[in-house]
Amino acid sequence: MANLTIDIDLPENVTITGYHRLPEAHGIEVSWPLPETCCCPRCKTVEPARLEANLDKGKMRVVRDLDVFGQSAFFCYQAVFHRCPKCHHRHDLLAPFKRKDTGYTYRFEKQVLRMLIGSNEAEVARRLGISAETVRFIVKNQLADGQAMTIDPQRVITDIGMDEVSLKKRHKLYATIMTDLTDPKNPQVLAVKPGRDEKAGEACLNLLTPAQRDKVRWR
Ligand SMILES: [Zn+2]
Repeated sequence: MANLTIDIDLPENVTITGYHRLPEAHGIEVSWPLPETCCCPRCKTVEPARLEANLDKGKMRVVRDLDVFGQSAFFCYQAVFHRCPKCHHRHDLLAPFKRKDTGYTYRFEKQVLRMLIGSNEAEVARRLGISAETVRFIVKNQLADGQAMTIDPQRVITDIGMDEVSLKKRHKLYATIMTDLTDPKNPQVLAVKPGRDEKAGEACLNLLTPAQRDKVRWR
C-alpha cells in the first residue's frame, strides 16, 4: 500500500490527532489546548475548568472545513463541556475555529466569500454542497464581524483586490470584499463591508495603515 503525505494548514493552536477516510470526503480529527478557567454563561462565575467529555461515547462533532484535493473535509472532535461548580449548569466549550451554532469553520466562511466574487449564491451553494440560505447566513455573519475587523499593521501586503458581491434572493444584499493577493495561490480575505459604493471601499481601505496603503498594487 502506498503512503501519501500532505501538508494541511491549520488554524492557530489546532493539531491533527487522527484521520478518517470517508467516501468522497476526509475526516480530520483535531484537538486544541483546553482552557484552564471557564466563565459560566448562566451565572457568570469564573472558575478553574471542570471539564467533562461527551458521555455519548463515539459521538463526534463534525464541522465542515476547506476542501482537500477537491473533496469535502471535516474537522472531527469530541465535545467537551464545563460544569459550573456554583449553579451546575453545563456548557459546551466552543472550538476556537468556528462560531457558535454553525457547522463549519471560520475559514470555510472566508472561502464562501471568496467564491462569491464573480459568482452568485446559488452557484456557490451548488459547488460546496450547501444551501443558498447557508451562503447568505455566512455573508451576514461575516459582515457583522467586519465591523470589528482589524488588519495586522505589520502585515506585508503588496497586492490587493477589491470586489463587490451581491446576494439577490428576496432582499438585495451587497458587500465589498478586500482581498490580499500578495500570495496569488492563497488569496486571503482582509475585510468585508456592507454596500458596493465608494464608501464601502474606503471603509475597507481605512483598515490599512498609510504605510501599507503606499505599498499596495491594485489588481
Ligand atoms: Zn454557573
